[in-house]
Amino acid sequence: MSRIAYVNGRYVPQAAAALNVEDRGTQFADGVYEVMAVVGGRLIDEVPHLDRLRRSLAEIEMRPSMAAGALRAILRETIARNRLVDGIVYLQINRGVAPRAHAFPAQDLAPSTVITVKHMGLPRDPDTVAGVAVITQPDIRWKRVDVKTVGLLANCMAKSRATEAGAYEAWLVDGDGDVTEGSSTNAWIVDRDGSVVTRPLGNDILPGITRASVLALARGHGFTVVERPFTVAEAKSAREAFLTGTTAFVKPIVRIDDAVIGNGHPGLATRALLGHYLDYVAGQGAAA
Ligand code: PMP
Repeated sequence: MSRIAYVNGRYVPQAAAALNVEDRGTQFADGVYEVMAVVGGRLIDEVPHLDRLRRSLAEIEMRPSMAAGALRAILRETIARNRLVDGIVYLQINRGVAPRAHAFPAQDLAPSTVITVKHMGLPRDPDTVAGVAVITQPDIRWKRVDVKTVGLLANCMAKSRATEAGAYEAWLVDGDGDVTEGSSTNAWIVDRDGSVVTRPLGNDILPGITRASVLALARGHGFTVVERPFTVAEAKSAREAFLTGTTAFVKPIVRIDDAVIGNGHPGLATRALLGHYLDYVAGQGAAA
């Protein structure tokens, strides 16, 4: 079945979906986005994703393109028209169309809204989950990566280096030698004391929705959780390492550059957290 995209009020075959060439999203990456997982036909963590979208819009000085209720209805309609059971929904809102000039137009433009879906299998079993490798790369992004804008070229370059190296993800490293986050995921370790560690929120990481859910689950299940920066060196000698994200869920890391993590297999805490996250996701599917 060919996919259906939502573009500015219309549902169209994805191959025919198009934006104006002077959409500021294409010329200046002047737009924001969200990616939400769909499990059993239901959106996971929809409310925090839409809250983050509202925040991103505010940070780039855009008004919401439509009421939250309308947006939620369109998301559901797009899922239904695509018969999407498991996969993701991609939502992008650009500032709109105007003759090319850097400054924001004096008057608000009509924002462009695009929604697409992707059918994909999502993680299911903590006991058979495979560990992945990551490489480290310098974090060369701008200073407001807490805003989920479509300006992702630096992330794309880092991820491409990872793919070329046969790795799943690139961990980005700041000027102090600390890991900020992955190119499209948040970064975690289990340190020598057994604490679950991830970098605190700030302008230098995306406030991941999966990060927030996993933090709450870890605390709720009695893990010691510490939000603090960690260096590449500490990560390489950590007991466990893992990453979180909307499509990755909780993914064990078994190698960072040339360093093997732990015994080279997914760690106990990581697998436990994936199990808790899978239960949490399944619970949302049943309750919604
Ligand atoms: N960091 C970056 C840079 C990302 O692009 C993403 C994915 N959107 C994440 C972290 C993980 O965020 P989430 O859990 O909301 O998918």
